[in-house]
Amino acid sequence: METTPATTRSLATEAVHAGREDLAALGLHAAPLDLSTTYPSHDSRAEAARLDEFAATGAQLTGPPVYARLDNPTVARFEQALARLEGTETAVAFASGMAALTATLLARTAAGLRHVVAVRPLYGCSDHLLSSGLLGTEVTWVDPAGIAEAIRPETGLVIVESPANPTLAELDLRALAHSCGTVPLMVDNTFATPVLQRPHESGARIVLHSATKYLGGHGDVLGGVIACDEEFARQLRQIRFATGGVLHPLAGYLLLRGLSTLPVRVRAQSATAAVLARRLADDPRVTRVHYPKLGGAMVAFEVAGDPHEVIAGVRLITPAVSLGSVDTLIQHPGSISHRIVAEDDRRTGGISDRLLRMSVGLEDAEDLWYDLDTALSARRSATRDLEETPRPGGRSPAPEPARR
Ligand SMILES: *Cc1c(COP(=O)(O)O)cnc(C)c1O
Repeated sequence: METTPATTRSLATEAVHAGREDLAALGLHAAPLDLSTTYPSHDSRAEAARLDEFAATGAQLTGPPVYARLDNPTVARFEQALARLEGTETAVAFASGMAALTATLLARTAAGLRHVVAVRPLYGCSDHLLSSGLLGTEVTWVDPAGIAEAIRPETGLVIVESPANPTLAELDLRALAHSCGTVPLMVDNTFATPVLQRPHESGARIVLHSATKYLGGHGDVLGGVIACDEEFARQLRQIRFATGGVLHPLAGYLLLRGLSTLPVRVRAQSATAAVLARRLADDPRVTRVHYPKLGGAMVAFEVAGDPHEVIAGVRLITPAVSLGSVDTLIQHPGSISHRIVAEDDRRTGGISDRLLRMSVGLEDAEDLWYDLDTALSARRSATRDLEETPRPGGRSPAPEPARR
């Protein structure tokens, strides 16, 4: 698997140049956006041979594209760039993070390996896809220490997230990869991004991203990508062609552009997140703060009172699911991102009902703190009211005036 291109350039340099090396020779500066669904060819004998080759191997087509469900040059640039950032041989892009996970599970079940071992918490919908058995897989949920024991002959995949959504729990990926033996370890690297963590270097064979989050970075594009070796990528490309979960070329264009600012965004947003995490940790209205040792721009915290009042109280921060955008978002996992996970399973995953998950953006730290501080006070007044007098009709009282 060591055909991975030797990276001598730094991540920051790769972020702006990978997938674009040929542009100057083409007389271009920005990457071209190719929206074609189909491509003309008068040589149908040659096309037949190329299609046979793809069906047999799943190797990326060489020469002109054939049909947009098979390949697209703009999307290929994004795949190439992301692979370079993750340090893998290649990458395969999908319509969303969930489409990427689906293709990965289908690739394993197609090989007769229907059993998955997974560690909670995972992103709510990933948990649901496994728990529901919707794709015919069977899951065994374990603690990291239980991975080796849970592996059976028909185990096709071990799935973990680190830092995990939404608790930001961190795992020792190198130790995990060791416990997996010959079973591929898939790490969802959505939260860390390759700026903070490159799971392939720790032994993960498959690295998943919801590109919707930090890779896009602006809250305006849905996408997913698997960074992996060429052998697994060939299976993924065949599944993508057959099932159609392709990334739209415009999304590929936006994601490639997003990658160029990824290192700068992640570092700036992480610095602000670290400031907010420290203040929250010192705040009596907050009972627990989850902030990864690795750093990052996600902060989760448990409040003493009603978390819904904090969501209702923010003004600058957007109360919305999703993450990784240039603006700050906050949500209540128990109500939104992890609602689809059964209550007991949420608890097993350490997802408290008092937990809030915040994705820190590029705003000024003081402005964000002012908004959080105000929203936390609104909650406190509501809770005090709740404790001392029953709320008629369950309505929340007006929040206390903001204090700076
Ligand atoms: C959002 C998310 C996903 C799913 O990605 P979509 O692009 O929404 O399909 C998977 N894993 C993690 C960690 C996520 O945050």
